[in-house]
Amino acid sequence: MRLSQMLFVTLRDDPADAEIPSHKLLLRAGYIRRIGSGIYAYLPLMWRVLQKVSQIVREEMNKTGAQECLLPQIQPAELWKESGRWDTYTKAEGIMFSLIDRREQQLGLGPTHEEVITAVARDMIRSYRQLPTHLYQIQTKFRDEIRPRFGLMRGREFIMKDGYSFHADEESLKQTYQDMYQAYTNMLRRCGLAFRAVEADSGAIGGSGSTEFMVLADAGEDEVLYTEDGKYAANVEKAVSLPADTQTSPFTTFEKRETPGTDTIEKLCNFLKCSPTQIVKNVLYQTVYDHGLTVLVLVNIRGDQEVNEVKLQNELTKLAPQFNAKTIISLSVPTNEMIENWAAKSLPLGYIAPDLSDDYIAGNKQVNSKFVRFVDQTAVELKNFVTGANESGFHVVGANWNEQFKLPELVVDIRKAKVGDRAVHDPTQTLQTARGIEAGHIFQLGIKYSQAMGATYTNEQGEEKPLLMGCYGVGVSRLAQSAVEQSYDKDGIIWPIAIAPYHAIVTIPNIKDAQQIEIAEKLYTELNKAGVETILDDRDERAGVKFKDADLIGIPFRIVTGRAIANGKVEVVKRATRESEEIAIEEIVNTLKQWIKQATAA
Ligand code: ATP
Ligand code: MG
Repeated sequence: MRLSQMLFVTLRDDPADAEIPSHKLLLRAGYIRRIGSGIYAYLPLMWRVLQKVSQIVREEMNKTGAQECLLPQIQPAELWKESGRWDTYTKAEGIMFSLIDRREQQLGLGPTHEEVITAVARDMIRSYRQLPTHLYQIQTKFRDEIRPRFGLMRGREFIMKDGYSFHADEESLKQTYQDMYQAYTNMLRRCGLAFRAVEADSGAIGGSGSTEFMVLADAGEDEVLYTEDGKYAANVEKAVSLPADTQTSPFTTFEKRETPGTDTIEKLCNFLKCSPTQIVKNVLYQTVYDHGLTVLVLVNIRGDQEVNEVKLQNELTKLAPQFNAKTIISLSVPTNEMIENWAAKSLPLGYIAPDLSDDYIAGNKQVNSKFVRFVDQTAVELKNFVTGANESGFHVVGANWNEQFKLPELVVDIRKAKVGDRAVHDPTQTLQTARGIEAGHIFQLGIKYSQAMGATYTNEQGEEKPLLMGCYGVGVSRLAQSAVEQSYDKDGIIWPIAIAPYHAIVTIPNIKDAQQIEIAEKLYTELNKAGVETILDDRDERAGVKFKDADLIGIPFRIVTGRAIANGKVEVVKRATRESEEIAIEEIVNTLKQWIKQATAA
């Protein structure tokens, strides 16, 4: 490709609406253009990057025996009603774009394809002899994200590889999951990314069957906790750790104390001269289930600990059947305004005790009349603890479970692990923290969809069983941008060679010099013929402008037909290191082929 013929526009200044480096650089270097909120045009350079990433993904998937297909993006609502996700996806979470066609039929634009693939499997899979099987596709997905941002990182239209596997037994599912773990590791390594595979939250389905692949970058939306020994890494949503040791309580007898102005743990500790590890903190939450019922939740947790709201949400989702609901649609610490909507009388906020009476709730059809009461493991072990007295300005000290307070039946782990905590697998290791961009997520689904949608097979004994499923997603467009987030300098992008739009750029410093042009044209033709993907900067621009642009778009090797041609050489500059050397013209093709081969070895 000749730059003189390309639709190529670079911007000198940072676009106003871009916050993170990769977003700014992709806009400035002419890779993408914003069309609407979370909607981008992939311009020719970007499209080449996306195709390279897709090809690496495809090769790694094919190696595992998975088969590529292409599923419809327009999906009938019926399928989503069968799985029970239509209302949550279109209304509660509102992540799915939906529409009504001319026959008054409801349709959704595919945010993901579990329903469609399960419908295919239900039609086609009859017997264990057809299992396992694994289909994947690379395709545009649509999600009406609440906060589209950072360019391709969180778009409303983006490219994903999604794959779905079907199995007769757990062992087979685990095998494919392992294969995908390896395939995803290979994909990210081949794309030139620094990443970490981490244990991830798999929602209320539970199990240990979910891994996220995090590209490490400060702009990442996720926090990862890991240990130096490399044996533990988890998304903070899922992470576990050992809490600090509890200090022995100085209060040996139970009594109520006046503790004015102590509505936070810190103030209370200062006032009573005690440690937060001796306090049972009682945190109020408010959740709404999918059919509209509001449920109030009281969590007892040790004073120095925080509630992990993802873990809490999972526990509440497990209780959904008890409320004739499927899932929850919101969870928050209620504001005063929210409290006014259900409180029968003024709550002793900041002084709540574990036995806060259900009388505080003015129950009705919309509001459950009782608190759901959870106690976190950390609070269960406490002896002679301090806690609220259900009266403003008062606490109790020297309290014990099953003496003054009944221990709630629901004992759970809902505490947040944090940096500096000791690791469970080895208490001498402490948790470290890093930011990550979730590029991929692999998941053992089990029978959630097959059971809901009646996708079954007949096993060797002739019994009909629901299919076991796994699903595996990688964000192709997000991954491409995260490569930039990980690799740039003040002058522009530094693409990893394997996914750079072109390997090399031949720059003619002086377009009026016939010899420069002749050598550049020759190299341009020969390099491309040899498989070194090369662009020619044959624009009538100053050399300085051309060098700036080449740096900005981040092509790995720049070949300059400048002064050195007098000695039969050209200058070659490596974008990543800025190393420059003069190489004989006839050796250029072989040298570059060699470098590229080394850098992209599968
Ligand atoms: P997130 O938590 O970031 O919203 P997700 O859990 O919704 O991601 P999945 O449904 O597992 O993501 O989708 C698989 C992959 O698709 C993700 O790992 C990510 O790389 C990519 N992805 C998801 N949502 C978006 C988006 N809005 N824009 C770009 N890529 C996305
Ligand atoms: Mg999402």
